[in-house]
Amino acid sequence: MDGKALELLKKEFNVKDDPETLHKFSVDYGIMSPVIEKKRKLPSAVVFLRREDEVERLMEIVSDFKVRVVERGKGTNTLGGAIPLTEESIVVDLSGMKGFSINKQEIVSSPGTQFEEVGVEEFPLVPTSFYMATIGGFVSGGSLGLGSLRNGAVWDNVKEVTVYTPRGKVSLSGDDVKSVVQAGGTNGVVTRVKIRRIRRGKLGVKRTPFNSIDKAIDFALDHEDAELVSIRNDKMMRAMGYESVGKWNVIVGEEEGDGEEVPFRELITNFAGAYYTVVNKLKVKYSSVDLPLYKLYELPSNCMVDAELSRSQGIMFSHTYFLDCDPSLNGYKFDLHSVLINDRVESNRLSMMINFKRNYDPEDLMNPGKLIFQDG
Ligand SMILES: Cc1cc2nc3c(=O)[nH]c(=O)nc-3n(C[C@H](O)[C@H](O)[C@H](O)COP(=O)(O)OP(=O)(O)OC[C@H]3O[C@@H](n4cnc5c(N)ncnc54)[C@H](O)[C@@H]3O)c2cc1C
Repeated sequence: MDGKALELLKKEFNVKDDPETLHKFSVDYGIMSPVIEKKRKLPSAVVFLRREDEVERLMEIVSDFKVRVVERGKGTNTLGGAIPLTEESIVVDLSGMKGFSINKQEIVSSPGTQFEEVGVEEFPLVPTSFYMATIGGFVSGGSLGLGSLRNGAVWDNVKEVTVYTPRGKVSLSGDDVKSVVQAGGTNGVVTRVKIRRIRRGKLGVKRTPFNSIDKAIDFALDHEDAELVSIRNDKMMRAMGYESVGKWNVIVGEEEGDGEEVPFRELITNFAGAYYTVVNKLKVKYSSVDLPLYKLYELPSNCMVDAELSRSQGIMFSHTYFLDCDPSLNGYKFDLHSVLINDRVESNRLSMMINFKRNYDPEDLMNPGKLIFQDG
Protein backbone atom coordinates (compact mmCIF):
# COMPACT_ATOMS: atom_id res chain seq x y z
CA MET A 1 0.00 0.00 0.00
CA ASP A 2 0.95 3.66 -0.35
CA GLY A 3 3.95 4.30 1.97
CA LYS A 4 2.74 7.79 2.84
CA ALA A 5 -0.67 6.48 3.88
CA LEU A 6 0.91 3.84 6.12
CA GLU A 7 3.15 6.48 7.69
CA LEU A 8 0.13 8.69 8.40
CA LEU A 9 -1.83 5.78 9.89
CA LYS A 10 1.10 4.94 12.18
CA LYS A 11 1.33 8.55 13.28
CA GLU A 12 -2.37 8.90 14.12
CA PHE A 13 -3.52 5.47 15.31
CA ASN A 14 -2.51 2.36 17.17
CA VAL A 15 -1.08 0.34 14.26
CA LYS A 16 0.72 -3.00 14.20
CA ASP A 17 2.51 -4.53 11.22
CA ASP A 18 4.76 -7.18 12.75
CA PRO A 19 4.56 -10.61 11.03
CA GLU A 20 2.77 -12.30 13.94
CA THR A 21 -0.02 -9.69 14.04
CA LEU A 22 -0.41 -9.69 10.25
CA HIS A 23 -0.77 -13.46 10.28
CA LYS A 24 -3.27 -13.47 13.16
CA PHE A 25 -5.45 -10.87 11.42
CA SER A 26 -5.38 -12.64 8.07
CA VAL A 27 -7.44 -15.46 9.56
CA ASP A 28 -11.04 -15.83 10.63
CA TYR A 29 -13.23 -18.89 11.25
CA GLY A 30 -13.86 -19.00 7.48
CA ILE A 31 -10.64 -20.92 7.04
CA MET A 32 -12.54 -24.05 8.10
CA SER A 33 -13.55 -24.03 4.41
CA PRO A 34 -10.61 -25.07 2.20
CA VAL A 35 -12.07 -22.96 -0.64
CA ILE A 36 -12.06 -19.82 1.52
CA GLU A 37 -8.68 -20.57 3.11
CA LYS A 38 -7.07 -20.43 -0.36
CA LYS A 39 -8.22 -16.82 -0.81
CA ARG A 40 -6.57 -15.49 2.35
CA LYS A 41 -3.84 -12.81 2.05
CA LEU A 42 -1.75 -11.04 4.69
CA PRO A 43 -2.84 -7.42 5.25
CA SER A 44 -0.33 -4.51 5.11
CA ALA A 45 -1.18 -3.41 8.64
CA VAL A 46 -3.75 -3.72 11.42
CA VAL A 47 -5.31 -0.56 12.86
CA PHE A 48 -7.00 -0.71 16.27
CA LEU A 49 -9.77 1.86 16.77
CA ARG A 50 -11.70 2.68 19.93
CA ARG A 51 -13.66 5.86 19.19
CA GLU A 52 -16.03 7.22 16.54
CA ASP A 53 -13.84 10.28 15.85
CA GLU A 54 -11.00 7.86 15.02
CA VAL A 55 -13.23 6.10 12.49
CA GLU A 56 -14.14 9.47 10.99
CA ARG A 57 -10.46 10.45 10.63
CA LEU A 58 -9.50 7.01 9.28
CA MET A 59 -12.12 7.32 6.57
CA GLU A 60 -10.68 10.67 5.46
CA ILE A 61 -7.32 8.94 4.96
CA VAL A 62 -9.03 5.99 3.25
CA SER A 63 -10.73 8.36 0.86
CA ASP A 64 -7.63 10.53 0.18
CA PHE A 65 -5.18 7.64 -0.34
CA LYS A 66 -7.59 4.99 -1.66
CA VAL A 67 -6.77 2.62 1.19
CA ARG A 68 -8.59 -0.73 1.14
CA VAL A 69 -10.20 -1.64 4.45
CA VAL A 70 -11.28 -4.96 5.96
CA GLU A 71 -13.35 -4.37 9.10
CA ARG A 72 -13.10 -6.88 11.91
CA GLY A 73 -14.96 -7.60 15.14
CA LYS A 74 -13.73 -10.86 16.69
CA GLY A 75 -13.23 -12.73 13.41
CA THR A 76 -15.73 -15.48 14.28
CA ASN A 77 -17.64 -15.43 10.99
CA THR A 78 -17.28 -18.66 9.02
CA LEU A 79 -17.44 -17.05 5.55
CA GLY A 80 -14.08 -15.29 5.31
CA GLY A 81 -15.74 -11.89 5.87
CA ALA A 82 -12.82 -10.60 7.95
CA ILE A 83 -9.98 -12.03 5.85
CA PRO A 84 -8.20 -9.76 3.36
CA LEU A 85 -8.37 -10.88 -0.28
CA THR A 86 -5.50 -8.58 -1.23
CA GLU A 87 -2.21 -7.69 0.47
CA GLU A 88 -2.93 -4.08 -0.43
CA SER A 89 -5.39 -3.74 2.45
CA ILE A 90 -5.48 -2.87 6.12
CA VAL A 91 -7.53 -4.69 8.73
CA VAL A 92 -9.43 -2.36 11.06
CA ASP A 93 -10.13 -3.94 14.43
CA LEU A 94 -13.30 -2.51 15.99
CA SER A 95 -13.57 -4.91 18.93
CA GLY A 96 -12.22 -2.23 21.29
CA MET A 97 -14.94 0.28 20.35
CA LYS A 98 -17.30 -0.45 23.22
CA GLY A 99 -20.30 1.09 24.95
CA PHE A 100 -24.08 0.70 24.99
CA SER A 101 -27.28 2.09 26.44
CA ILE A 102 -30.54 0.29 26.95
CA ASN A 103 -34.14 1.36 27.44
CA LYS A 104 -37.42 -0.59 27.57
CA GLN A 105 -37.59 -1.22 23.84
CA GLU A 106 -34.11 -0.76 22.41
CA ILE A 107 -30.44 -1.49 22.77
CA VAL A 108 -28.10 1.13 21.31
CA SER A 109 -24.57 -0.16 20.94
CA SER A 110 -21.08 0.60 19.64
CA PRO A 111 -19.71 -2.14 17.37
CA GLY A 112 -17.20 -3.75 19.74
CA THR A 113 -19.65 -4.45 22.57
CA GLN A 114 -20.27 -8.15 23.24
CA PHE A 115 -23.61 -9.83 23.91
CA GLU A 116 -22.78 -10.79 27.49
CA GLU A 117 -21.84 -7.20 28.33
CA VAL A 118 -25.44 -6.10 27.57
CA GLY A 119 -27.15 -9.28 28.79
CA VAL A 120 -27.72 -12.00 26.26
CA GLU A 121 -31.42 -12.53 27.08
CA GLU A 122 -32.23 -8.97 25.95
CA PHE A 123 -31.64 -9.68 22.24
CA PRO A 124 -34.46 -10.82 19.91
CA LEU A 125 -32.04 -13.26 18.33
CA VAL A 126 -28.65 -14.47 19.45
CA PRO A 127 -25.95 -16.23 17.41
CA THR A 128 -24.50 -19.50 18.68
CA SER A 129 -21.18 -17.64 18.83
CA PHE A 130 -22.59 -15.07 21.32
CA TYR A 131 -19.80 -15.78 23.84
CA MET A 132 -17.13 -14.49 21.46
CA ALA A 133 -18.74 -12.33 18.71
CA THR A 134 -19.22 -8.55 18.75
CA ILE A 135 -22.59 -6.87 18.19
CA GLY A 136 -21.15 -4.89 15.25
CA GLY A 137 -19.81 -8.10 13.70
CA PHE A 138 -23.18 -9.84 14.09
CA VAL A 139 -25.11 -6.91 12.58
CA SER A 140 -22.59 -6.66 9.71
CA GLY A 141 -21.97 -10.32 9.04
CA GLY A 142 -24.54 -12.47 10.86
CA SER A 143 -27.96 -13.62 9.77
CA LEU A 144 -29.98 -15.90 12.06
CA GLY A 145 -29.76 -17.30 15.57
CA LEU A 146 -31.73 -18.54 18.51
CA GLY A 147 -34.96 -16.50 18.38
CA SER A 148 -34.99 -15.93 14.62
CA LEU A 149 -37.97 -18.24 14.13
CA ARG A 150 -40.07 -16.12 16.43
CA ASN A 151 -38.50 -12.69 15.95
CA GLY A 152 -36.96 -12.70 12.48
CA ALA A 153 -33.42 -12.31 11.15
CA VAL A 154 -30.85 -9.66 12.12
CA TRP A 155 -32.09 -7.23 9.45
CA ASP A 156 -35.65 -7.53 10.81
CA ASN A 157 -34.53 -6.37 14.26
CA VAL A 158 -32.06 -3.54 13.59
CA LYS A 159 -33.91 -0.21 13.77
CA GLU A 160 -31.05 2.17 13.03
CA VAL A 161 -27.46 1.94 11.88
CA THR A 162 -24.70 4.51 11.45
CA VAL A 163 -22.00 3.75 8.92
CA TYR A 164 -18.87 5.61 7.76
CA THR A 165 -18.25 5.32 4.02
CA PRO A 166 -15.53 6.76 1.76
CA ARG A 167 -18.11 9.45 0.93
CA GLY A 168 -18.99 10.35 4.51
CA LYS A 169 -21.20 9.36 7.43
CA VAL A 170 -24.62 7.89 6.72
CA SER A 171 -27.40 7.21 9.24
CA LEU A 172 -30.11 4.78 8.18
CA SER A 173 -33.37 3.75 9.81
CA GLY A 174 -36.39 1.54 9.08
CA ASP A 175 -36.17 -0.62 5.97
CA ASP A 176 -33.11 1.32 4.73
CA VAL A 177 -30.88 -0.47 7.27
CA LYS A 178 -31.01 -3.46 4.92
CA SER A 179 -28.44 -1.67 2.70
CA VAL A 180 -25.83 -2.25 5.39
CA VAL A 181 -26.95 -5.07 7.70
CA GLN A 182 -25.28 -8.37 6.59
CA ALA A 183 -23.33 -6.47 3.89
CA GLY A 184 -20.18 -7.72 5.66
CA GLY A 185 -18.43 -4.35 5.85
CA THR A 186 -18.60 -3.86 2.07
CA ASN A 187 -20.63 -0.69 2.58
CA GLY A 188 -18.61 1.01 5.33
CA VAL A 189 -17.63 0.90 8.98
CA VAL A 190 -20.62 0.46 11.30
CA THR A 191 -20.17 2.60 14.43
CA ARG A 192 -23.62 2.52 16.04
CA VAL A 193 -26.61 0.18 15.93
CA LYS A 194 -30.05 0.35 17.51
CA ILE A 195 -31.61 -3.08 18.01
CA ARG A 196 -35.06 -4.05 19.17
CA ARG A 197 -35.07 -5.31 22.76
CA ILE A 198 -37.37 -8.07 23.96
CA ARG A 199 -38.35 -9.70 27.24
CA ARG A 200 -38.09 -13.48 27.56
CA GLY A 201 -39.56 -15.84 30.08
CA LYS A 202 -37.95 -19.10 31.08
CA LEU A 203 -37.33 -21.46 28.20
CA GLY A 204 -37.67 -25.23 28.11
CA VAL A 205 -36.28 -27.63 25.53
CA LYS A 206 -37.73 -30.93 24.36
CA ARG A 207 -36.53 -33.54 21.86
CA THR A 208 -39.24 -35.63 20.20
CA PRO A 209 -38.37 -38.63 18.01
CA PHE A 210 -40.36 -39.62 14.88
CA ASN A 211 -40.11 -42.46 12.41
CA SER A 212 -41.40 -40.47 9.46
CA ILE A 213 -40.30 -37.11 8.11
CA ASP A 214 -43.94 -36.10 7.47
CA LYS A 215 -44.87 -36.47 11.14
CA ALA A 216 -41.71 -34.66 12.22
CA ILE A 217 -42.51 -31.71 9.93
CA ASP A 218 -46.15 -31.53 11.09
CA PHE A 219 -44.98 -31.44 14.70
CA ALA A 220 -42.32 -28.83 13.94
CA LEU A 221 -44.81 -26.57 12.18
CA ASP A 222 -47.17 -26.78 15.17
CA HIS A 223 -44.45 -24.87 17.08
CA GLU A 224 -43.89 -22.02 14.69
CA ASP A 225 -43.87 -19.44 17.49
CA ALA A 226 -41.12 -21.16 19.46
CA GLU A 227 -37.65 -19.66 19.87
CA LEU A 228 -36.02 -22.74 18.39
CA VAL A 229 -37.27 -25.56 16.18
CA SER A 230 -34.70 -27.90 14.60
CA ILE A 231 -35.37 -31.05 12.60
CA ARG A 232 -32.41 -33.43 12.68
CA ASN A 233 -32.04 -36.94 11.39
CA ASP A 234 -30.59 -39.91 13.27
CA LYS A 235 -27.15 -39.55 11.64
CA MET A 236 -26.83 -35.97 12.81
CA MET A 237 -28.08 -36.75 16.33
CA ARG A 238 -25.63 -39.64 16.73
CA ALA A 239 -22.75 -37.48 15.48
CA MET A 240 -23.71 -35.04 18.23
CA GLY A 241 -23.45 -37.77 20.85
CA TYR A 242 -27.12 -38.77 21.37
CA GLU A 243 -27.77 -42.50 21.52
CA SER A 244 -31.51 -42.99 21.77
CA VAL A 245 -32.88 -41.21 18.72
CA GLY A 246 -35.66 -41.48 16.13
CA LYS A 247 -35.15 -41.56 12.38
CA TRP A 248 -36.14 -37.88 12.52
CA ASN A 249 -36.03 -35.72 15.67
CA VAL A 250 -37.56 -32.36 16.43
CA ILE A 251 -35.91 -30.14 19.02
CA VAL A 252 -38.19 -27.40 20.33
CA GLY A 253 -37.10 -24.62 22.67
CA GLU A 254 -39.94 -22.40 23.83
CA GLU A 255 -41.31 -20.30 26.63
CA GLU A 256 -43.72 -22.06 28.97
CA GLY A 257 -43.35 -25.30 27.02
CA ASP A 258 -43.45 -28.66 28.75
CA GLY A 259 -39.78 -29.31 28.04
CA GLU A 260 -36.89 -29.53 30.46
CA GLU A 261 -35.91 -26.08 31.69
CA VAL A 262 -32.40 -25.22 30.51
CA PRO A 263 -30.27 -22.14 31.08
CA PHE A 264 -30.67 -19.72 28.18
CA ARG A 265 -26.98 -19.94 27.27
CA GLU A 266 -27.23 -23.71 26.82
CA LEU A 267 -30.27 -23.38 24.60
CA ILE A 268 -28.53 -20.88 22.31
CA THR A 269 -25.78 -23.31 21.45
CA ASN A 270 -28.45 -25.65 20.05
CA PHE A 271 -29.04 -23.29 17.12
CA ALA A 272 -26.79 -24.31 14.24
CA GLY A 273 -24.23 -25.42 16.81
CA ALA A 274 -24.65 -28.92 15.49
CA TYR A 275 -23.13 -28.17 12.13
CA TYR A 276 -20.11 -26.33 13.49
CA THR A 277 -19.34 -28.90 16.19
CA VAL A 278 -19.82 -31.93 13.95
CA VAL A 279 -17.84 -30.53 11.01
CA ASN A 280 -14.92 -29.78 13.30
CA LYS A 281 -15.12 -33.17 14.96
CA LEU A 282 -15.53 -35.34 11.86
CA LYS A 283 -13.92 -33.10 9.21
CA VAL A 284 -16.68 -33.98 6.75
CA LYS A 285 -17.76 -31.82 3.82
CA TYR A 286 -20.65 -29.47 4.46
CA SER A 287 -23.08 -27.21 2.68
CA SER A 288 -26.19 -25.21 3.43
CA VAL A 289 -29.36 -24.22 1.57
CA ASP A 290 -32.29 -22.08 2.66
CA LEU A 291 -35.33 -24.15 1.74
CA PRO A 292 -38.99 -23.23 1.35
CA LEU A 293 -40.97 -25.33 3.83
CA TYR A 294 -42.57 -27.64 1.24
CA LYS A 295 -39.08 -28.85 0.29
CA LEU A 296 -38.55 -30.25 3.79
CA TYR A 297 -40.52 -33.34 2.77
CA GLU A 298 -37.67 -34.16 0.35
CA LEU A 299 -34.88 -34.02 2.96
CA PRO A 300 -32.39 -36.80 2.17
CA SER A 301 -31.54 -39.45 4.76
CA ASN A 302 -28.09 -40.34 3.37
CA CYS A 303 -26.56 -37.14 4.87
CA MET A 304 -26.40 -35.71 8.34
CA VAL A 305 -29.22 -33.15 8.23
CA ASP A 306 -29.96 -30.18 10.48
CA ALA A 307 -32.93 -28.04 9.44
CA GLU A 308 -33.32 -24.87 11.53
CA LEU A 309 -36.72 -23.21 11.07
CA SER A 310 -36.31 -19.45 10.79
CA ARG A 311 -38.02 -16.29 9.57
CA SER A 312 -36.72 -13.53 7.35
CA GLN A 313 -38.76 -10.52 6.25
CA GLY A 314 -41.87 -12.28 7.59
CA ILE A 315 -41.35 -15.48 5.58
CA MET A 316 -40.73 -18.79 7.30
CA PHE A 317 -38.14 -21.14 5.79
CA SER A 318 -35.58 -23.76 6.77
CA HIS A 319 -31.91 -22.82 7.12
CA THR A 320 -30.63 -26.30 6.35
CA TYR A 321 -27.20 -27.87 6.83
CA PHE A 322 -26.11 -31.02 4.99
CA LEU A 323 -23.00 -32.85 6.17
CA ASP A 324 -21.04 -35.61 4.45
CA CYS A 325 -23.01 -35.62 1.16
CA ASP A 326 -23.88 -33.58 -1.93
CA PRO A 327 -27.59 -32.76 -1.56
CA SER A 328 -29.55 -32.31 -4.76
CA LEU A 329 -32.21 -30.10 -3.17
CA ASN A 330 -32.60 -26.66 -4.68
CA GLY A 331 -33.42 -23.67 -2.54
CA TYR A 332 -32.10 -20.16 -1.99
CA LYS A 333 -28.36 -19.97 -2.03
CA PHE A 334 -26.54 -19.71 1.30
CA ASP A 335 -23.07 -20.72 0.18
CA LEU A 336 -20.82 -21.60 3.10
CA HIS A 337 -17.78 -21.78 0.80
CA SER A 338 -18.06 -18.37 -0.82
CA VAL A 339 -16.76 -15.02 0.44
CA LEU A 340 -19.28 -13.21 -1.76
CA ILE A 341 -22.20 -11.41 -0.14
CA ASN A 342 -24.04 -12.07 -3.43
CA ASP A 343 -24.07 -15.79 -2.57
CA ARG A 344 -26.06 -15.52 0.63
CA VAL A 345 -28.49 -12.61 0.52
CA GLU A 346 -32.12 -12.47 -0.70
CA SER A 347 -32.50 -10.52 -3.95
CA ASN A 348 -34.40 -7.48 -2.61
CA ARG A 349 -31.80 -6.88 0.11
CA LEU A 350 -28.93 -7.54 -2.28
CA SER A 351 -30.26 -4.83 -4.64
CA MET A 352 -30.33 -2.37 -1.74
CA MET A 353 -26.72 -3.23 -0.80
CA ILE A 354 -25.54 -2.88 -4.40
CA ASN A 355 -27.25 0.51 -4.86
CA PHE A 356 -25.70 1.77 -1.64
CA LYS A 357 -22.25 0.52 -2.69
CA ARG A 358 -22.51 2.25 -6.07
CA ASN A 359 -23.34 5.54 -4.35
CA TYR A 360 -20.95 5.49 -1.41
CA ASP A 361 -18.03 3.20 -2.34
CA PRO A 362 -17.79 2.93 -6.14
CA GLU A 363 -14.01 2.26 -5.91
CA ASP A 364 -14.61 -0.86 -3.78
CA LEU A 365 -12.39 0.27 -0.92
CA MET A 366 -14.55 -1.27 1.81
CA ASN A 367 -13.93 -5.01 2.22
CA PRO A 368 -12.94 -5.20 -1.45
CA GLY A 369 -13.84 -8.16 -3.61
CA LYS A 370 -16.67 -9.38 -1.36
CA LEU A 371 -19.66 -7.69 -3.05
CA ILE A 372 -20.05 -7.88 -6.82
CA PHE A 373 -21.80 -4.61 -7.62
CA GLN A 374 -20.81 -3.60 -11.15
CA ASP A 375 -22.63 -4.93 -14.21
CA GLY A 376 -20.74 -7.29 -16.51
C1 LIG B 1 -19.34 -21.54 16.68
C2 LIG B 1 -19.95 -20.48 15.78
C3 LIG B 1 -21.31 -20.29 15.80
C4 LIG B 1 -21.90 -19.32 14.99
N1 LIG B 1 -23.24 -19.15 15.06
C5 LIG B 1 -23.84 -18.21 14.28
C6 LIG B 1 -25.27 -18.02 14.34
O1 LIG B 1 -25.97 -18.67 15.09
N2 LIG B 1 -25.81 -17.09 13.54
C7 LIG B 1 -25.04 -16.31 12.70
O2 LIG B 1 -25.59 -15.47 11.99
N3 LIG B 1 -23.72 -16.46 12.65
C8 LIG B 1 -23.09 -17.38 13.41
N4 LIG B 1 -21.73 -17.55 13.35
C9 LIG B 1 -20.96 -16.69 12.45
C10 LIG B 1 -21.25 -15.26 12.83
O3 LIG B 1 -21.52 -14.45 11.73
C11 LIG B 1 -20.36 -14.61 13.82
O4 LIG B 1 -20.06 -15.37 14.93
C12 LIG B 1 -20.73 -13.19 14.26
O5 LIG B 1 -21.87 -12.67 13.67
C13 LIG B 1 -19.58 -12.36 13.83
O6 LIG B 1 -19.14 -11.55 14.88
P1 LIG B 1 -17.64 -11.07 14.93
O7 LIG B 1 -17.53 -9.99 15.94
O8 LIG B 1 -16.71 -12.19 15.11
O9 LIG B 1 -17.45 -10.43 13.46
P2 LIG B 1 -16.34 -10.72 12.38
O10 LIG B 1 -16.27 -12.14 12.05
O11 LIG B 1 -15.09 -10.05 12.81
O12 LIG B 1 -16.94 -9.90 11.15
C14 LIG B 1 -18.09 -10.35 10.47
C15 LIG B 1 -18.26 -9.54 9.19
O13 LIG B 1 -18.67 -8.21 9.51
C16 LIG B 1 -17.68 -7.25 9.13
N5 LIG B 1 -17.58 -6.33 10.25
C17 LIG B 1 -17.25 -6.60 11.53
N6 LIG B 1 -17.37 -5.49 12.29
C18 LIG B 1 -17.80 -4.49 11.45
C19 LIG B 1 -18.12 -3.12 11.62
N7 LIG B 1 -18.07 -2.51 12.82
N8 LIG B 1 -18.50 -2.40 10.53
C20 LIG B 1 -18.60 -2.98 9.32
N9 LIG B 1 -18.31 -4.27 9.10
C21 LIG B 1 -17.92 -5.03 10.16
C22 LIG B 1 -16.42 -8.05 8.82
O14 LIG B 1 -15.65 -7.44 7.79
C23 LIG B 1 -17.00 -9.37 8.36
O15 LIG B 1 -17.35 -9.31 7.01
C24 LIG B 1 -21.09 -18.51 14.14
C25 LIG B 1 -19.71 -18.70 14.13
C26 LIG B 1 -19.14 -19.68 14.93
C27 LIG B 1 -17.65 -19.85 14.90
